[in-house]
Amino acid sequence: MKIPYSQKFFGLFASVLTFSLLFCSWTYAQKIDIQRVEPLHWWVGMKNPDLQILVYGKDISQARVSLAYPNVELREVITVENPNYLFLYVHIKPNAQAGMLPIKFKVGKIETTRNFELKQRVKAGEEYKSFTQADVMYLLMPDRFANGDKTNDQIAGMNQGYDRKDNYGRHGGDIKGIMNNLDYIKDMGFTSVWINPLLENDEPKESYHGYAITDFYRIDRRFGTNEDYKKLVEMCHQKGLKVIKDVVLNHCGDKHWFILDLPMKNWIHQFAEYTRSNFRLATLVDPNASQADRDLMVRGWFDKHMPDLDGRNQYLGDYLIQNNIWWIEYAQLDGLRLDTQPYPHKDYVAKWAKAILAEYPNFNIVGEVWEDKPSVVSYFQKGKKNHDGYDSQMPSVTDFPLAFAISGAINDNDGWDSGSSKLYYTLAQDAQYPNPSNNVIFADNHDISRIATNFNKDVKKSKMATALLFTLRGIPQYFYGAEINMEGPGNDHGKLRSDMPGGWEGDEINAFTQKGLTAEQTDLQNYTKRVLNWRKNSNPIHNGAFAQFLPNDNLYVYFRYTDRESVMVIMNNNPSEEKKLDANRYAERLAGFKSAVSVTTDETFADLKNIKVPAKTVLILDLKR
Ligand code: CA
Repeated sequence: MKIPYSQKFFGLFASVLTFSLLFCSWTYAQKIDIQRVEPLHWWVGMKNPDLQILVYGKDISQARVSLAYPNVELREVITVENPNYLFLYVHIKPNAQAGMLPIKFKVGKIETTRNFELKQRVKAGEEYKSFTQADVMYLLMPDRFANGDKTNDQIAGMNQGYDRKDNYGRHGGDIKGIMNNLDYIKDMGFTSVWINPLLENDEPKESYHGYAITDFYRIDRRFGTNEDYKKLVEMCHQKGLKVIKDVVLNHCGDKHWFILDLPMKNWIHQFAEYTRSNFRLATLVDPNASQADRDLMVRGWFDKHMPDLDGRNQYLGDYLIQNNIWWIEYAQLDGLRLDTQPYPHKDYVAKWAKAILAEYPNFNIVGEVWEDKPSVVSYFQKGKKNHDGYDSQMPSVTDFPLAFAISGAINDNDGWDSGSSKLYYTLAQDAQYPNPSNNVIFADNHDISRIATNFNKDVKKSKMATALLFTLRGIPQYFYGAEINMEGPGNDHGKLRSDMPGGWEGDEINAFTQKGLTAEQTDLQNYTKRVLNWRKNSNPIHNGAFAQFLPNDNLYVYFRYTDRESVMVIMNNNPSEEKKLDANRYAERLAGFKSAVSVTTDETFADLKNIKVPAKTVLILDLKR
């Protein structure tokens, strides 16, 4: 409920009952109890001049609030169902100066002041750039990547301790561990990191993955501090790496402080008993879907321990928008990855994305849309002309259809609709997407089987996936450990997200130094590094168009090209035979080029009419005029 300040004040004291309650509870309390003020601070000079300040404390709604600061107005004081909350709406004029806002709380004769800081911005919103097709993201799960600080493995008073033997326990990886290995990530040729959530997950079990947040303003102490996170981003920037924050709007942990003392009933989706989502995104896209199916998809909970947040609640909606802007501004982030994009109410997602892009117009945000059909995934990308008029405002989506096609193509023999035809047909649907080159593409991630598992550890196949991933249209995301052919099944997340060898003191195998790796692992890692470092400077890959040819005689061929430059990619999907290319078939894209150089071997092909590709190999060629 929204009450103008003057009326609220009048209503509060006009009621004898309220007055006596006040008298009883505050005469003896003798102090005003403020446990939380969020956001932790804010900035002057933001495009959106309005700020919500959440104040939490025992019976804080009984306090009279005032604020005197030049060019800042307290416009609304909102009380809600739970008396322990106040939502203050403050208007910051363009000429307001940085400083401390003294927010005064008064109950009867008791008075207290909380200073709320308004900081100076480091740079304007337009100056924030983001991830593009020129980037490759290294996706890592912080608990499983490297343990750089053993002293934070176990934190007194936190729910889950350290147990590296338990696949679903906490293994001690942390921010320091990531810092220690930034040179490795950079030298491999990655240009950005997407780190699975680092915010506090003080849950009794399976808290390692980070998706059950219990405090939206605090880095989990087992990973480090807010300051450590800020420092990590600074270090990344010094090394030319971008940082993408993994954010969750759909749910939080059931031990979240505001879940334990709900501000309002409609803060979350409530049911008489635990009700799961049906996990069917297609219901949101299906013009003929029943309302019951759509409702269950969005309102049902993702997991028993993850209460389902309702962003349509204005106060929660504003809170979550500001929380993400706060982290972008505080840590100087380069992009966001939104978890479970289709699961919150879609109009809220659009409002959220629009608000973030209004502050940071050049920002990129990728939404996780886990579906195998381009017609469904593309519904959730900004600019799509959908049948129901919906526009998600989300610039990028995860290209799950392509991920499934990459593994499927490499694993199966070529046929009318199998093997590389899967790739062809998936990419043939690119017109579904308003901006396919802004899709985040991948071969595996923290939720689906690792490629080494899909390929039964066949390194030849892993190399093929690597070559495709780094040359197809889109922004590649690469899952930590794939470079050493790490295995992990999609149906056992604890194993899927196993520890990066070398990240823990005493590890006998070390992926960072290649110590103890097999010859095949070293070969794959070197190959990956080589393609990545070439990709860093390939204009046709960063900015070029994409043209593909129908697979023919086990050969699938595509080009990435600009007016002057061209990269030709040839996949021989035959399990045992070397194949010779029929150059005439590709004449329309080979015209003007005389020779080619292999990106991975430096081999020169002086005659484009005589290119042979070994079995189960992808050849990447820089064409030369
Ligand atoms: Ca640690």
